[in-house]
Amino acid sequence: MTAFLRLLARNRLALAGGVVLSVVVLLALLTPILPLAEPDVTNTSNRFRPPFSEGALLGTDHLGRDLLSRLMWGTRLSLAVGFAAAIIAATIGAAIGIVAGYYGGRTDNIIMRGVDMLMAFPYILLALAIVAALGPGLFNALIAVAAVNVPFFARNIRGITVSIANKEFVDAARLAGLSNRQIILSEILPNVIPVIVIAMSTTIGWMILETAGLSFLGLGSQPPQADLGSMLGEARSALITNPHTSIVPGLMILLIVMSINLLGDGVRDALDPRLKSGALSRPMAATRVDRRATPPAPTGKGLLEVGGLETQFHVKNRVYRAVGGVDLHVEKGECLGIIGESGSGKSVTALSIMGLVASPPGVITGGAAHYDGEDLIGAPYRRLRDMRGRNVAYIFQDPLATLHPLYRVGDQLIEAIRAHRPIGRDEGRAKAIDLLKAVRIPNAEKRITDYPHEMSGGMRQRVGIAMALANDPDIIIADEPTTALDVTVQAQVLTILDDLRRSRGLAIVFITHDFGVVAQLCDRVAVMYAGRIVEEGVTGDILRAPRHPYTARLMACVPELGAGKRRLEAIPGLPPAVDRLPAGCAFADRCDRAREECRKGDIPLARDGTHAVRCLYPVDTREAAE
Ligand code: ADP
Ligand code: MG
Repeated sequence: MTAFLRLLARNRLALAGGVVLSVVVLLALLTPILPLAEPDVTNTSNRFRPPFSEGALLGTDHLGRDLLSRLMWGTRLSLAVGFAAAIIAATIGAAIGIVAGYYGGRTDNIIMRGVDMLMAFPYILLALAIVAALGPGLFNALIAVAAVNVPFFARNIRGITVSIANKEFVDAARLAGLSNRQIILSEILPNVIPVIVIAMSTTIGWMILETAGLSFLGLGSQPPQADLGSMLGEARSALITNPHTSIVPGLMILLIVMSINLLGDGVRDALDPRLKSGALSRPMAATRVDRRATPPAPTGKGLLEVGGLETQFHVKNRVYRAVGGVDLHVEKGECLGIIGESGSGKSVTALSIMGLVASPPGVITGGAAHYDGEDLIGAPYRRLRDMRGRNVAYIFQDPLATLHPLYRVGDQLIEAIRAHRPIGRDEGRAKAIDLLKAVRIPNAEKRITDYPHEMSGGMRQRVGIAMALANDPDIIIADEPTTALDVTVQAQVLTILDDLRRSRGLAIVFITHDFGVVAQLCDRVAVMYAGRIVEEGVTGDILRAPRHPYTARLMACVPELGAGKRRLEAIPGLPPAVDRLPAGCAFADRCDRAREECRKGDIPLARDGTHAVRCLYPVDTREAAE
């Protein structure tokens, strides 16, 4: 609740609206005890006194009644009717919506068709018809305004309820033996209340206007009692000769509706979970780059060379050092593995290369990523867009999340091809079929018209790979592409990637947390921990004799087939939070070899031939062989 108020207060316009509305509501509440003239006492000798005249601060109207007093009483009435109508409409509408959405089926159909019929009438016409049937009067106007707004609430709430009623926690409540009534009250209602509040806050202003409209036409409040609408109506004949009689109630309506709408928008933004962060922002097209030091020059190693890459997330006043100085390189036709626990910064490293980390909150604060000698960090967006998919392509973990659910896979492939090459649809189609064949999808001509949900996980990931291949990239960055697949399908996908690498000379950066996959596919491997590389070298060397205690422990976690029974070691403790990295070695707290020096200063990545390790007391080869 306090968080909600804080968010609301941060929105200046909403705050202003809230203050104005509070003042108006307070004055309306206090009206009976304020020293005001009687609102309905006429004094025709005193007609049309201008504002600021003696005894009548805002002047008098055509019957000599005090305008200030009438304004206050009218505001009171208008607000009361507007709020009452909103509450009635919201309650009835929400009840209808929840019942229709929760029970579904025929109940839903009958109720919603009724609601649709109401919605088919222009609402002012409907309100007029209701008042005409009930007879003029403020109370009947209230009923009319509430009635015409019920469908709006019913539709809104029904939609939300339908999506909630199918959620797992509702099923769980059903399994727990709760009755429908209990489920609606304890599971559904708390979840739709924010939506009801949002819908109300954005429609109260509207309902006040509608009530005023009916009163203006003489169908609402009846003389001598006046609300803001009827005051305007009575002043209409004197609009030109004595404009103040119209301007005073008109301004008040403007003030009320404006402040309610501003406040309502603020409430909506603060309550909407998608906008919870308070920032109405979309990620930028490319990651923000803010490098303090001059980036390192390319050393000519490999097709893609990452040097000293630092990527951080700036959230409020916290800094998460997700990637803290990573050096990598990959040659043409080579497969580099990046391995590490979840959260060690593998994905952020990979995404930083093409500026794909969402900004805000991501910022690249240092380093370079040279592709063929050209630094991609800080490259203009046009250049990055041109290279994304054509020079460097990505494959992600979950193909279901990367494929559009409403388009056929073939169309998505063709779109990926045509994004970079001006070719016709037929040619694109032929190329798409070739790609599907290249990733060994059987019966490619037929499968091209499948939707993503019609394919199995393995097939979908093949489509993901085909899409990455669409523009013959030189480098594919695969971010845990087989983690969501079962072992046999994983083996097939790995074989496909390996063949493609050999036949097309692709460079592959393969991110995984599975040493088995590394052994099968990668020439070299880099081990990441807490945003840094702790060990790097030729796959065989590292698998045979890991030098960093972390690598050794990580490998001890993997069961070996046919190696007999063995206790699987889990690494005790958790990786450090990247916003509070310790000094020295980040692994020291979980390491049984750590000594005092390990917790001080920066520990460099010491290179010995092709093998590099960031450790003061690395595991000895002989020791490891024991
Ligand atoms: P993984 O190695 O599992 O791919 P990631 O690269 O996704 O790990 O994440 C690295 C670190 O960055 C994690 O500690 C994670 O908490 C942090 N991180 C990722 N995205 C954000 C974000 N939007 N805001 C703050 N921290 C983030
Ligand atoms: Mg990841």
